[in-house]
Amino acid sequence: MNPSSHDFDLFVIGGGSGGVRAARMAATRGVRVGMAESGRMGGTCVNVGCIPKKLYSYGAHYAEAFEEARGYGWQMAHAPALDWQVLKTNRAKEITRLNGIYEGLMVNAGVQRLQGHGRIVDAHTVEVTGDDGQATRHTARHILIATGGTPFVPAIEGRELAVTSDDMFDLPVFPQRLVVVGGGYIGCEMASIFHGLGAQTTLLYRGEQILRGFDDEVRAFAADELRKAGVDVRVGCDVARIEAGTGDTRRVVLANGSVIDADVVLYATGRRPNVDGLGLADAGVQQADNGSIVVDEHFATSVPGIFALGDVVGRMELTPVALAEAMALVDHLFGPAPGKAARTMDYDNIPTAVFTHPPIGTVGLTEAQARERFSDIQVFRSDFKPLKHTLSGRGERTLVKLIVDTASDRVVGLHMVGADAGEIVQGFAVALKCGATKAQFDATIGIHPTSAEEFVTLREVSRK
Ligand code: NDP
Repeated sequence: MNPSSHDFDLFVIGGGSGGVRAARMAATRGVRVGMAESGRMGGTCVNVGCIPKKLYSYGAHYAEAFEEARGYGWQMAHAPALDWQVLKTNRAKEITRLNGIYEGLMVNAGVQRLQGHGRIVDAHTVEVTGDDGQATRHTARHILIATGGTPFVPAIEGRELAVTSDDMFDLPVFPQRLVVVGGGYIGCEMASIFHGLGAQTTLLYRGEQILRGFDDEVRAFAADELRKAGVDVRVGCDVARIEAGTGDTRRVVLANGSVIDADVVLYATGRRPNVDGLGLADAGVQQADNGSIVVDEHFATSVPGIFALGDVVGRMELTPVALAEAMALVDHLFGPAPGKAARTMDYDNIPTAVFTHPPIGTVGLTEAQARERFSDIQVFRSDFKPLKHTLSGRGERTLVKLIVDTASDRVVGLHMVGADAGEIVQGFAVALKCGATKAQFDATIGIHPTSAEEFVTLREVSRK
């Protein structure tokens, strides 16, 4: 078929972070773009991920602030109490507002938005089935699959009694007792947040230490801080089954025979790509064993004309990564914006944060990775009581850590556990991206008094 005879130049399946960015950027290049989304615009991040999670994290931080305020002289006549319904309602309102903004972005960019589930018929045809069951077919020069992922619950007995992170934001009743299974991003964040909001929280992790993949010292420090804050973090715990308890309660039975009673059991055991009903096998789109779509460096699948990015390709399941992938793809397919160089995707030095309380921020290599990659490294680290907590009465400590390749003097890893770690590490990520050396860190004047200044005042090597 002649390219111009297609209905669209690009048809995007999935209106999440990656899909919306790709559709909008492509439309600004003057090409014809269509998009199918069966749910609410914005995908996981906006609806059941980053945004509501961060809002609830802010909510949970108030509990700490109320406690800390006493050390600063504030008297509270009554103990503050959370109105869960108010928090949920306000969150829902804000998310609805964001859904509208995303819809507006599509309309204003000239993207033709179709409400419905997209299925690939062939390399240049998508069938969209609307909520009314009516199917329409649309042809496109390029098809982009940006359908994201969905929580995965392993096949344990009683799994239907567990909820996933998708359900946590709208729980009808606030759980007085929460059991979280999984020690990754979502498990740790949800445990911290719901503990902060007032739930008695137990976090169960099957391995030796939570947050696998992060720097070992960071993992241990974060686990200690979670415990100090009051989360019951238990490692080496396998769940044998979940049973219904009295009323609406649940009973988690561990492999060692012990039981934990809870109002809600959250499974945060990873996510799987959203590929069901997409017609991938019929179209011949190659998938990895876990279902994720296999793509090359230009996000091309095994079928010419079909592309995929974001969580559905499962490289790094982070919103800013999906956004960057989308911009690289649009530049590749339709050329860069006037006067700009074509963007490509670079997966090195991607900063990330875990919004635990306290949060974790990290960019670059872990100490173990650096030891593998370089023959000689230097570790600079410090842990301290932040100034705020000298009066707040809290025992929370902050960890800052730099890993330096001795030969080049470059800082190759930077880690923090402490208040605002995400905000602080974002700035330092620029320095690492630019290849900053330890000497340049040392030549940078600190901002006093902050926790962040510790990163530019670390003089003593802690270990080599
Ligand atoms: P993760 O992969 O981060 O963590 C999954 C956890 O569940 C791990 O502790 C894992 O253990 C455990 N687990 C896996 N399978 C089982 C099982 N069968 N039984 C018991 N435990 C199991 O996934 P998440 O769901 O937490 O998050 C998914 C992704 O979403 C993250 O990797 C991240 O990329 C992204 N995300 C990012 C956020 C941010 O930027 N702040 C916030 C939330 C999510 P083990 O370590 O042993 O494999």
